[in-house]
Amino acid sequence: MKKLFSALLIAGLALWAVPASAHDKIKVVASFSILGDMVQQVTGELAEVTTIVGPDADAHVYTPNAADAKAVADAKVIFVNGLGFETWSQTLIDNSGTKAKVYVATEGITPLKVDGETDPHAWNTLTNGMIYVNNIAKSMAEADPDHADAYKANAKAYNERLKALHDRAVAEIAKLPADSRTVVTAHDAFGYLANGYGMTFLAPVGIDTEAEPSAKQLADLIDHLKKVKAGALFVENITSPALVEQISRETGIKIGGKIYSDALSERGGPATSYEKMFEHNLTTLITALGKQS
Ligand SMILES: [Zn+2]
Repeated sequence: MKKLFSALLIAGLALWAVPASAHDKIKVVASFSILGDMVQQVTGELAEVTTIVGPDADAHVYTPNAADAKAVADAKVIFVNGLGFETWSQTLIDNSGTKAKVYVATEGITPLKVDGETDPHAWNTLTNGMIYVNNIAKSMAEADPDHADAYKANAKAYNERLKALHDRAVAEIAKLPADSRTVVTAHDAFGYLANGYGMTFLAPVGIDTEAEPSAKQLADLIDHLKKVKAGALFVENITSPALVEQISRETGIKIGGKIYSDALSERGGPATSYEKMFEHNLTTLITALGKQS
């Protein structure tokens, strides 16, 4: 009997000694992979982050499933991009019955307007990325005040890295001749990058991926590209390359590689985090445009 009691006591002590494990972490849901990585960087070991729209997937057109509804129902905190990006998120949140706090990561960002519509791709300039990071830290500090200092410290270190990458992007793009900064992507996802870094991005498809261009729109774009001598075409990870390949055939402009607009790459790919994604896009753009001049 005494032996059994000691065994139980030891087992009990062992249980107490277990460090913070998955069930102690605050459950956080992020709507898409890029935002999910930012949240992970800010929360580190303190949160269990679930991403709804995963790598290489298109968050413009997504149908949530039962696992998403469960993750949202179980969450303490939910982050969305806002600016009309996740058209499906409000219904998912409402139907799940979750008690989570819902935060919009783009709070305080000045949205770009394209043909009267709000452009949701605000993360594609690092100055906005740093605002996302501060918003995430502030929101986590509110939802989990015990760890407020850790969230703020993580955000500060992360933003220092983003600022260094931003300075590098500004310097490298400034070296490109002013007339060789026009590129084409499949959908209009880089307006913020264009504005922030002095480039021109053209696209046959608008700011969401649902619409397909008419034959006339495509012909007009091809005519325009021949006139402006666009430097390179880029396929995207979340859309079919067919349109861009057609434009390449009809204009003779080369495809300069694949860039990541709305989602990270799968593990093993070149864009497994927000920082790596931005760096990969920058290098791909610079390399293709550098070859042209
Ligand atoms: Zn998009």
